[in-house]
Amino acid sequence: MNKIEKLYEGKAKIVYSTEDPELVVQFFKDDATAFDGVKKGQISGKGVANNLISCHLFDMLEKNGIATHFVKRLSDNEMLVRRVVIIPIELVVRNVAAGSLCKRYGIPEGEIFPEPIVERYYKNDAFHDPLMDDDHIIRFKLANAAELTFLKTTAMRINQILQDFFNSIGITLVDFKLEFGHYKDRLLLADEISPDTCRFWEKGTQRKLDKDRFRFDLGDVESAYVEMLKRITGSSS
Ligand code: UDP
Repeated sequence: MNKIEKLYEGKAKIVYSTEDPELVVQFFKDDATAFDGVKKGQISGKGVANNLISCHLFDMLEKNGIATHFVKRLSDNEMLVRRVVIIPIELVVRNVAAGSLCKRYGIPEGEIFPEPIVERYYKNDAFHDPLMDDDHIIRFKLANAAELTFLKTTAMRINQILQDFFNSIGITLVDFKLEFGHYKDRLLLADEISPDTCRFWEKGTQRKLDKDRFRFDLGDVESAYVEMLKRITGSSS
């Protein structure tokens, strides 16, 4: 499958058209941004790690009955995916308090929630991705009530599958962000699932193995991505 034309370039990925109008290539870059694009940098090897990790996790989710845009891995930093129309809602699932939740509500980092929290954010850079109510989503026609229920239940199912897996490899899945898109008459999980979009803490030590190492200059950024790649896929490439 050949890349034909660049359709979209985001902060961490480039999407290319292919000869098949229903399929596109996602290319994962080493570029990293944080804090609404204010902090910028490069994480060597991140593109490869995030692509291979996402391929592995999408494949695992498909095997567990979750419909995703993933078709196949094309190379170390490229995957073939179905061309979806992304719904501008970011679903964030939280098992443990961290990040913006702690700042917004004054909850201490590390507090474990007995049941997960599923938040919705408006995916809109110009408005800095604000937190949204279901009423906003429905009134603004970003999704209808049935679609919204599907997104939230699917996010919870994904959380269960991923938690079971990460627990088995000694990692606490603290929180993560999901995006979905329309494809024909279906809604598919899209985008990526990687250390850029999840928080991973090593069980026992609580060592952070995700983009927080870049956000907060914690050091050993590259090695955290490689470590997660090894743990998730069982190999480093
Ligand atoms: N997240 C993401 N993209 C975003 C915002 C958040 O992938 O635009 C992920 C983030 O990596 C974390 C989770 O969603 O795993 C919750 O992020 P939070 O709301 O705490 O925001 P942040 O820490 O980025 O301020």
